[in-house]
Amino acid sequence: MEKILVIGAGTMGSGIAHVFAMSGFNTTIVDISEMQLQKAKSTIEKNLDRQIAKGTLTNEMKSETMERLTFEMNLEEVAHHSDLIIEAATEQFELKSKIFNTLSNMTASNVILATNTSSISITKLASHVKNPERVIGMHFMNPVPIMQLLEVIRDIIQAMKFVPRLWI
Ligand code: NAD
Repeated sequence: MEKILVIGAGTMGSGIAHVFAMSGFNTTIVDISEMQLQKAKSTIEKNLDRQIAKGTLTNEMKSETMERLTFEMNLEEVAHHSDLIIEAATEQFELKSKIFNTLSNMTASNVILATNTSSISITKLASHVKNPERVIGMHFMNPVPIMQLLEVIRDIIQAMKFVPRLWI
């Protein structure tokens, strides 16, 4: 896995992109708002500076992290280049299902499609995708660069394949 795409440059998307880029992955953030993309870039820079001040990051590591980040507005242009896509857009089912429908048409069937949703059913979102078994929840905690816990959620259809006895 080399290229990460984060959809949504808000509180969570900027934090998720921060940790992936800092961990060595080329990471693109997509948002429909240019202002949000600019805000995300300056938030990430400020948070990296905070890590430098604490002594947990060097100036060189900050520059390398920023070099791995790309900020884009057109999802269709970047979706097919990605190996793992994490959707962190506004918490609205219609919006997220539209994004997953687009991703389903624009990506290879082995690309993992994750959502950071706090409340929407992963199974319902997966129903908008060809090869729905590749849809997972990746629930990051806020603030992402500080919180080490990540909840990974399978949809119920996948879970049933692994625990068939529970369903007899
Ligand atoms: P936010 O409002 O800060 O950011 C949402 C971003 O999505 C905005 O920048 C908006 O412009 C963008 N967006 C809207 N439509 C889009 C589209 N079609 N394509 C690309 N970008 C689009 O929201 P947030 O707090 O970062 O939450 C994002 C997701 O993370 C939600 O699903 C939320 O439930 C979940 N979550 C939030 C928290 C939290 O503490 N904030 C914690 C865990 C999970």
